Amino acid sequence: MAITRPKGTNDFMPDEVLSWQYMENILRDLCKQFGYMELRTPIFEDTELFIRGVGDTTDIVQKEMYTFTDQGNRSLTLRPEGTASTVRAYLEHKMFAVSQPTKLYYMGPMFRCEKPQAGRYRQFHQFGVEFFGSNSSAADAEVISLAWEFYQRLGLKGLEVRLNSVGCPNCRPIHRKALQEFLKPHFEELCSSCQSRFEKNPLRILDCKSPVCQKIVENAPTTIDCLCEECQEHFAGVKSYLDAVKIPYHLDPHLVRGLDYYTNTAFEILVTEIGAQSAICGGGRYNGLVKEVGGSNTPGVGFALGMERAFAAMAAQGITLPTKEKFDLYFAPLNEEADHLCFMWLTALRSQGIACEKDYMNRSLKAQMKYADKIHAPYVVIVGDSELADQKAVLRCMANAQQKEIDFVNLIDSLVEMVNGGKENE
Ligand code: AMP
Repeated sequence: MAITRPKGTNDFMPDEVLSWQYMENILRDLCKQFGYMELRTPIFEDTELFIRGVGDTTDIVQKEMYTFTDQGNRSLTLRPEGTASTVRAYLEHKMFAVSQPTKLYYMGPMFRCEKPQAGRYRQFHQFGVEFFGSNSSAADAEVISLAWEFYQRLGLKGLEVRLNSVGCPNCRPIHRKALQEFLKPHFEELCSSCQSRFEKNPLRILDCKSPVCQKIVENAPTTIDCLCEECQEHFAGVKSYLDAVKIPYHLDPHLVRGLDYYTNTAFEILVTEIGAQSAICGGGRYNGLVKEVGGSNTPGVGFALGMERAFAAMAAQGITLPTKEKFDLYFAPLNEEADHLCFMWLTALRSQGIACEKDYMNRSLKAQMKYADKIHAPYVVIVGDSELADQKAVLRCMANAQQKEIDFVNLIDSLVEMVNGGKENE
């Protein structure tokens, strides 16, 4: 039986990869302009890192990790997300010891053993940023504006930023108590997951997807109602920076992140056209995370966005990215001597930055012209017996079928000039 790719994974074919590279370049340019440097960490890490960094009560850690034991009996896990590794590297390489802030980004595959469906894969790609060392609300607004700007550059419309504040370890216990008191009379009606969350993690009941739980929490006390003065100020700051740069947002008091190390800002970006998997980006502040992973108290804020979901949103809105590589020239040799000559020219032109191709299949001239058309080469250089005799190649423009001769001695220079001149006029 033929072997196929594992369930929930994708092969990206060369045409699609061009779109991926285009998107990756947008992200790289954006990070350069926003002052984030790329960090590359291992695809697998010590399992303990994710238990601490993602949280042992989360679905990711409880159900979705690809964990294995290696030959040295170490428990390793394919990374399910990028923040924990970034925090580990931040500590391991003492990035906190240089002048702050530290602004990092990552991009690459993540692995979660989820039930595959449209927009939900077992190997998927995230781009994320982490901004360490500053508790300024401008940092929160900056990461939101980076994600926002990315989607603008892709041309996406109909985006919604949802914003909330989950408070801090000072004000959260007050909310927790108020929430538990509110929910107590409804305990029996809650779904079984929420019943078990009631003691451990009641905040998560606010974002339960069950319609019954949603109805119950409709009027529940929100984190916003209980914010301490400092958290109120921080939240007002984030909103004022977003207002200043005209990024629209909706307050969503039920947007929560259930773990203790999440503080203040929580946000999500949604796009309506892609159905159930409408969350394309999620992030927030995590002032307690660096300490949780073993460092000292260090503020941080960041987000992760799903790259497949960005493509899905673009497809739903009819936005396409380039899926064809452009060649400048195609060489059509018609005999063996011409083939050697073309191979030399090809090599010389490539070393001058020109994208060119030749025939490798011994095709007839007609078949070569057809192929040149297929690969979208705007010009073809033809060399056969009579061209060798005259020491002149024929240059054919594919757009208008006009042909002219070029002396072999000037061929490289004339072609470089023609291609580069054409590029300048583009
Ligand atoms: P999270 O790390 O769960 O906060 O997810 C951040 C973003 O990654 C989401 O908004 C999605 O866009 C994307 N994402 C998360 N899980 C998956 C998955 N299984 N398949 C595809 N994209 C995902």
